[in-house]
Amino acid sequence: MKSPKQQKSVQITTRFQFKADSRKVCYTVRSSNGTDEYTTCLFAGKACSCTCPSRKPCYHMAQVEAVEANRTREQAESAKASTFESLKATYDVRTTSERVQNPSTIATNMVIESKRRQQAPLAGASRGFSLMK
Ligand SMILES: [Zn+2]
Repeated sequence: MKSPKQQKSVQITTRFQFKADSRKVCYTVRSSNGTDEYTTCLFAGKACSCTCPSRKPCYHMAQVEAVEANRTREQAESAKASTFESLKATYDVRTTSERVQNPSTIATNMVIESKRRQQAPLAGASRGFSLMK
């Protein structure tokens, strides 16, 4: 419909995973003519059956297998990323040292500020004194 090319691409309508055995996953796919629906099943990431009349392995099996492989990889990556984020939050030394450093920087600034305030009237007094001289 969108493209005049006759390249077949699988449209996945549903994905279901068997509760009894999570290695078994089936996809309901819409055929290229847009009306027929087939069920393509995988076992442990390998396509093993399809209800379409094509000779096996059909393009549904190949594409569903690729979709499932992507899904598995993305899940593994996001699991790894979230583990890394939580580890970083717990063990990030830089964040901890910043937290320690901040109060001492504030304290140093306060010392500098109070010294300047102490020196200010002295400077004025000594100037006044020198004027009287
Ligand atoms: Zn098929």
